[in-house]
Amino acid sequence: MALEDYRSDMEMCCRCSICKFVPLEKLKEIQHSYVCPSIARYNFHTYAGGGRMGMGIAMLEKELEYDGKLLEVVYNCQMCGACDISCKYAMDMEVLEPINEIRIKCVEDGHTVPALDGVINSLRKQGTMVPGAKARRGEWAKGLDVKDITRQKAKVIYHAGCRVCYDEDMWRVAKATVTLLHKAGIDVGIAGENESCCGGRAYQMGYKEELLNQAKQNMELIKKSGAEILVTGCADCYCAFKVLYDKFGLKDDLEVLHTTEYLARLIKEGKLKPTKKVETKVTYHDPCHLGRLGEPYIHWEGKPVPGHIRIFGPPKEFRRGTYGIYEPPRDVLKSVPGLELVEMDRIKEYAWCCGAGGGVKETNPEFARWTARERIDEAESTGAEAIVTACPGCERNFKDTIKENGSSLKVYDVVELLEKAT
Ligand code: SF4
Ligand code: SF4
Repeated sequence: MALEDYRSDMEMCCRCSICKFVPLEKLKEIQHSYVCPSIARYNFHTYAGGGRMGMGIAMLEKELEYDGKLLEVVYNCQMCGACDISCKYAMDMEVLEPINEIRIKCVEDGHTVPALDGVINSLRKQGTMVPGAKARRGEWAKGLDVKDITRQKAKVIYHAGCRVCYDEDMWRVAKATVTLLHKAGIDVGIAGENESCCGGRAYQMGYKEELLNQAKQNMELIKKSGAEILVTGCADCYCAFKVLYDKFGLKDDLEVLHTTEYLARLIKEGKLKPTKKVETKVTYHDPCHLGRLGEPYIHWEGKPVPGHIRIFGPPKEFRRGTYGIYEPPRDVLKSVPGLELVEMDRIKEYAWCCGAGGGVKETNPEFARWTARERIDEAESTGAEAIVTACPGCERNFKDTIKENGSSLKVYDVVELLEKAT
């Protein structure tokens, strides 16, 4: 697919601006009505999903020149998909796909953003999106008795992801995951220094070739290992392996599970028993790529019915975020004795992004922190003592923001709280 393939979606845009907000019927509190960080921060229509539709058409018509302003608008967007889901509350049209295609076109036309060069070069050279030596990738697992999937057979492979491997503060999440899986009697292995980036974040930044290269390399390693299930605790990796690899026909029959899905299943089966009290009040942040963007890819091939531009045969099904991973992380939290879960206003399909996605943490860290600050304020308004998430990217951005702006709110991963209770 290319930007041209989404022309009729973009032409459908009626400039209603629903993509800026939580749909009225779902709105709980006017203070938390915005769903798009980009329009909330920059307050000019071009920054919203609808504005980006107009921009896409103008690019196809060659009415827009590549310049600093165009790239500034294109990259001040977290690729969080909230516009797409809000728009689809009333409309049958794609919004995030063309937004992604705009970025792919920029990269293919040679108009890239220098702030992303470092991570993309690191990915091309050594398969990592967080700077760090390839040889250090498996260091987090030192001292753990975990199988090396490149030399030993295991049914389950745990993919830690770049953020976890090169951010020592996150090692405890990976260690806790392996410990819990061992407790449940799961035969789990890792690829250690042979693990490579999923490529998902590169795709969000517009680097499609890089995603495809990573996908082919990763699937070859997984096939060779004989593993049947891939488990990851990173929302970006989850979306890449489950949704993007499937979209491009590269997933085969690999079962992809987020750690919270797998742990919720093991608790239900009685293989993990959280018995120790963890007395705390928490609120859960839905990561975009685990929630609305984590729902399965829908393969569809069809054509407009003659005489109609937006009626297709066979009918086109749209991904509306309904089948994202929302309950498993909540089920894990609810299984922890003594823990009270309270909800924020914007949750599930309509969750506010942590701010780090789409390369914004690299291109505009101030905007990334501003977006996180909004979420931290929303979390504080629930009276919770901690914000809990299920992605190391969200956790890092929340922690960086709290360190800079202050808050008594603690930040946890779901897995950590389960480990405390088990
Ligand atoms: S993208 Fe959808 S919600 Fe946004 S202005 Fe266009 S039609 Fe309305
Ligand atoms: S992807 Fe997210 S940040 Fe970008 S326009 Fe849509 S809602 Fe706004």
